[in-house]
Amino acid sequence: MPDTSALQSASCEDWPGIIRAYADLLPVTDQTPIVTLREGDTPLIGSEHIGPSLPGNIRLFFKFEGVNPTGSFKDRGMTMAVSKAKERGVGITMCASTGNTSAAAAAYSARAGMECIVLIPQGKIAFGKLSQALIHGARTVQVDGNFDDCLRIVREITDSYPIELVNSLNPMRMEGQKTAAFEVCDQLGHPPDIHILPVGNAGNITAYWWGYLQYREVGRIDRLPKMIGFQAAGAAPLVHGEPVRQPETIATAIRIGDPARWDDAMSAMTDSGGLVDMVTDEQILEAYQLLAAREGVFAEPASATSVAGLLKLAANGYFDDRPVTVVCTLTGHGLKDPDTAVNMLQKPDIIPARTEALVELLGL
Ligand SMILES: *Cc1c(COP(=O)(O)O)cnc(C)c1O
Repeated sequence: MPDTSALQSASCEDWPGIIRAYADLLPVTDQTPIVTLREGDTPLIGSEHIGPSLPGNIRLFFKFEGVNPTGSFKDRGMTMAVSKAKERGVGITMCASTGNTSAAAAAYSARAGMECIVLIPQGKIAFGKLSQALIHGARTVQVDGNFDDCLRIVREITDSYPIELVNSLNPMRMEGQKTAAFEVCDQLGHPPDIHILPVGNAGNITAYWWGYLQYREVGRIDRLPKMIGFQAAGAAPLVHGEPVRQPETIATAIRIGDPARWDDAMSAMTDSGGLVDMVTDEQILEAYQLLAAREGVFAEPASATSVAGLLKLAANGYFDDRPVTVVCTLTGHGLKDPDTAVNMLQKPDIIPARTEALVELLGL
């Protein structure tokens, strides 16, 4: 018999997922059935290129949420939302989604033995995300409308039927997503000075802020970061101060015209001394490519919005010479949306199957 004790003890000491890791700070009890895929504990990656190339004195880190089990930060919220729904005996979950919420809802519902219904805007979600909803067995319905239409329908249905809404209107989603702020403080040993996030439905930036506030309240940190949100220029209701009726952007995960967490997110940014601003799709794609080509980190276009925002702030003289620690959350994995990468880049060369052909092509 091979000795597997080392393996067994390694798996026992594994990261237990965000609920068990932060149970003292979350609304769970011994009675809560924990539905987990061991989400969280994502890396805080120091920038080797982008940070050092900026003016000022910036220590830049990327909180890479793309390595969560379904490839985005939505898993943090979903482990809480699904666990609490299961605790109350609910059998069906439902969400509107630009893609990642449906992927996470489908996976965690499958894990919990619950049914899942997802509403997505027709033709407007990345292919990888659609594949996730389908393979995890969610009843997936495309709506001839945008995300905001999907969310309106989901709210009406979940108001009238015993079905759990698992969009970020669900307070348990926010509870779970707060844990990313806890992790950033634990990883740095202190809070960052500035935290930059992409903003779509505005749940995540709100959750981070609540996380930082709670961590200060329990004495694990003694100050708070400035919260800075960036929207895509074609879907920037918080910047314009009014809903956008036909939101458009390459960053489909934040293609939202009427964010559900509008007021909460604005409070987070204002109360922390931060700001909300927007970047164009060109700026998003530039940051997207820069991250992958110069840092080795492949995040989806919406995620690159935080880095595009940082570049814009730096170019506009936002930073002086004082040392600052900046964290950009990279919300989802680039493999979610391979089409965007392949379509923006030159196709690979084709050669005959002869070594000399390669030598010639490479000019060796
Ligand atoms: C959901 C999502 C966002 C936006 O988060 P909100 O909480 O809706 O503001 C950004 N990026 C990715 C990859 C997402 O999945």
